[in-house]
Amino acid sequence: MSLIVQKYGGSSVADAESIKRVAKRIVETRKAGNEVVVAVSAMGDSTDELLDLAHQVTPIPAPRELDMLLTAGERISMALLAMSIRSMGHDARSFTGSQAGMITDARHGQARIVDVTPGRVRDALDEGAIAIVAGFQGFNRGTGDITTLGRGGSDTTAVALAAALGADVCEIYTDVDGIYTADPRLVPRARKIDRISSEEMLELAANGAKVLYIRAVEYARRHGVTLHVRSSFNNNEGTIVYNAPEQPAPDTARENSETPVEEPLIAGVATDLSEAKITVVGVPDIPGKAAQIFNIVAKTGANIDMIVQNVSAASTGLTDISFTLPKSDGQTVLTALTAEQGDVGFKALQYDDQIGKLALVGAGMRTNAGVSAKLFTALYEAGINIEMISTSEIRISVVTRADTVNDALRVVHAAFGLDSDDEAIVHGGTGR
Ligand code: ADP
Ligand code: ASP
Ligand code: MG
Repeated sequence: MSLIVQKYGGSSVADAESIKRVAKRIVETRKAGNEVVVAVSAMGDSTDELLDLAHQVTPIPAPRELDMLLTAGERISMALLAMSIRSMGHDARSFTGSQAGMITDARHGQARIVDVTPGRVRDALDEGAIAIVAGFQGFNRGTGDITTLGRGGSDTTAVALAAALGADVCEIYTDVDGIYTADPRLVPRARKIDRISSEEMLELAANGAKVLYIRAVEYARRHGVTLHVRSSFNNNEGTIVYNAPEQPAPDTARENSETPVEEPLIAGVATDLSEAKITVVGVPDIPGKAAQIFNIVAKTGANIDMIVQNVSAASTGLTDISFTLPKSDGQTVLTALTAEQGDVGFKALQYDDQIGKLALVGAGMRTNAGVSAKLFTALYEAGINIEMISTSEIRISVVTRADTVNDALRVVHAAFGLDSDDEAIVHGGTGR
């Protein structure tokens, strides 16, 4: 008997019909002789709708109450799903995050899982039932309060359950057939990937590919969980996210033809419109200034991404430092820097929230020259200006104007030969 964890995203359980369709699928898995644990998201866009509602009541909802509100979404879908399965003659029991033992720290809205004690889930399985667990939610022992794991957090619930229960498979069901070389809503000719390393998936998820939540990928990597991302609308094989063993040194790999370097050059391209750019203008070009600025930024808790420092003008001894950060942190960081302007001695701050970020990801970049040149040439030929550049071992990111980033995505996708002959199918969801 195998233990299978399945996660169904909001678009897979958007209405009563979809819930019945998913219930049937779960029952099939059970009937095939498997133990089944399901992590389920809130129906359709209901988390966003609850969030909108909160903001109609107050501009800054209290974090504890917001978590209370948002976790209601998953409570609805888990109960409906369990009812539907029971009506098909199979035992099913729904559990909230806290009932399922998803213990987190106390950070409302962004809680991290610190322990998983799925005793009741295990008992339900032992009694032959299917366990349905509310995704995205947890419980903090210290405060005794309900928490949420961050947007997209149901993926993490599924992975954490799979790790704690020692599941054989963790299947992530969504509204596309798997992980593609780019978001199929933006690039219709995106190509489905059969296998991708968790390392590459981490980079894609960190750079805007919301098909998997970055923390779920991290968790899976840390606990050795293999993921299978696939559609809940058909039975096609999806994408396997595997944890790569240590890569052989490039030379050894080339010498031994039996172990070819199997990674393609590029895994995929992701875009992100959720970031903004702050430029600190006229910073004295002396030791300690960058440290001072980024200590101020760090104290706000903002997660900064790219940093660029210009060459200082010889005549003034002043330089400009730019960095990107989530738009949601923009105001806090501007306020914090303004408060210390006298101390740091910069001239002014510029805030730009009309930027787009594009990231090209591929483990093959490690051993291939010329990837940046090809990327920059493709953008140049399309008349797209690059404002910032940053690289890691397996990623090149550029910042462009927000309104050119989708064109940039398609151009780069084509330039690296990623376009497929067929159009990708998006089965549901609103893309919100
Ligand atoms: P769910 O409700 O199942 O959690 P999400 O909306 O969170 O679904 O994630 C699925 C969506 O992710 C797809 O509909 C697609 O638009 C988007 N997406 C972004 N990048 C990619 C990618 N590289 N491959 C597949 N889908 C992607
Ligand atoms: N319902 C939550 C959200 O929309 C969690 C999830 O769907 O993964 O973010
Ligand atoms: Mg999701």
